[in-house]
Amino acid sequence: MVVPREFRGHPASPGRAVGPVHRAGEPPAPSGRAGSAAEARAALKNAVNRAVYELRQLSAGANAESAGILDFQIELLLDGELLAPALARIDRGEGAALAFAAALNDQIEAMASECSESASRCSEAKQDEGAEVDPFALRAVDLMDLQHRVLDALAGRTRADFPAGAVYVGRDMPPSVFLAHDWSSGGAIALGAGSTASHVALLARARGVPMVVGLGALPGETGEALLVDGTQGLACLNPDPRLLPEAGLLPDPHPDATPRAVAPALHAAPGAAPFPAAAGGSETPLLLANLDTLADLDTLDPAEVDGVGLVRTEFVLTSAAEALSEERHLTVYRRLLDALAGKPVTLRMLDLGGDKALAGLNEGDPAGMLGLRGVRFLLAHPDLARIQARALIRAAAHGPVSVLLPMVTLPAELAAMAALFDEETARLARQGIEGRRPPLGIMVEVPAAALTLDLFGQAAFFSVGSNDLMQYLAAAARDNPAVAPLYAGAETAMFRLLDQICTAARVLGRPVSLCGDLAAEPAAAGRLRALGLHGLSVAPRRLPALRAALGTRLGATLPPAAPGAGSPDSAPGQA
Ligand code: PEP
Ligand code: MG
Repeated sequence: MVVPREFRGHPASPGRAVGPVHRAGEPPAPSGRAGSAAEARAALKNAVNRAVYELRQLSAGANAESAGILDFQIELLLDGELLAPALARIDRGEGAALAFAAALNDQIEAMASECSESASRCSEAKQDEGAEVDPFALRAVDLMDLQHRVLDALAGRTRADFPAGAVYVGRDMPPSVFLAHDWSSGGAIALGAGSTASHVALLARARGVPMVVGLGALPGETGEALLVDGTQGLACLNPDPRLLPEAGLLPDPHPDATPRAVAPALHAAPGAAPFPAAAGGSETPLLLANLDTLADLDTLDPAEVDGVGLVRTEFVLTSAAEALSEERHLTVYRRLLDALAGKPVTLRMLDLGGDKALAGLNEGDPAGMLGLRGVRFLLAHPDLARIQARALIRAAAHGPVSVLLPMVTLPAELAAMAALFDEETARLARQGIEGRRPPLGIMVEVPAAALTLDLFGQAAFFSVGSNDLMQYLAAAARDNPAVAPLYAGAETAMFRLLDQICTAARVLGRPVSLCGDLAAEPAAAGRLRALGLHGLSVAPRRLPALRAALGTRLGATLPPAAPGAGSPDSAPGQA
């Protein structure tokens, strides 16, 4: 039986309505390409022009109040000051999408801290109808809206609307999303944050759309029934259907989208251990899956694996605009967690550089195999790293997530990334956004790291990337057929080093898995098992052969993650 659950907030626009939840946070789109600085500048200016054009179109068909808000956004976009920091970043070598997103993030962040400096004044003002609201908070929402619109324009994509009659649920709502939506079939707005004096609240009142702000938590998942009482400042999840006719509420205009009877089962508790602890060499390794795209989920039966040992996020996120969207990251990670239904999911941070390109962020450069790749690229682009870290921290509140850092060479790189995660965890907590600092592990794929694993006590776990480790051991590029025999011939060196890696990990008390292609070679399975690896992670299609080679069963219970700085058991980011 579905139990109604009430959420208390602040009335922002009177009236009552019920409908299926639409959770905000859809992706802002694939990107344009970066090319030279001149091309990136031109691409950004074109995207801004297009965004201005779209806003003018919207403004032309809007009433006076709406037009005022849209004209304000147009002015912001046309103000040279807004673009100057982004153009300066482009001149320093960043792609158009990253430069614009990062420059606006700086300005949004500055607004947010101006607002939090006067926190009590600001929050009181937010709640009291008619009181003067901190203009910084309002401007920050407009900037976020513009950021998404320009990133969309860079990608040549228009913003997705949500179903008519639905209840929009999000932390805040950009005015343009409100304006682009057809409210004639009803619907309502329920915001975790937001302000009664925001632009969107003004619009909701003008349009007669019930709206509640300041709910704190976001009520419901997409499809669940939510009643919004904008007069009382309440939202009720899964309201008793018998009460609805008496309350004089609109019937659901979309019977096909009727609320699910039951919310999806919650995954493992946020504090649950995402990774196995070290074990002796005789244990059968866990069977884990490598995922490169969301479509890989179609070929994976979660019941057949112990978890996901590697998600290559640089492939799952298919454009710069996606990689720059915290919400898109979060949507993808939650989808993976949902599919795995409580089993651990290891998400690797973007392994860009070398042959892995994401137009707008970096260009493919095979010579870059020894250059700014993996964690090196992330640390050189902290804005990008922070976007991904925030999404990972937020995802970790919803299931057993652990995070892998690619191409780590020195302990200092892990320490820098751990500090970044700590900062973002604390920042999310200050912002009242639910999160949990996930355990951080490293890919062991650079010989210098493999040979000094004892220095990586800060890592919560290790995962050997045999594809790269072999190429760097043999100095033979993994994608160059001319040196393929050398690459394959490095297997003896590889196994000697693996033995050393497993010993060092055991001494540290950290689990070590293997997620390179070597794990999928049935002929190697016996030797890998003898080394005492905790997990072997392979593409879904290769699981049956590996299982047969190991003669293994499933369903190993995952004991607690290793303690240490990389795996805090506190949850400072939890709201
Ligand atoms: C590896 O190097 O073995 C690995 C798993 O990572 P990727 O193949 O993505 O470089
Ligand atoms: Mg690798």
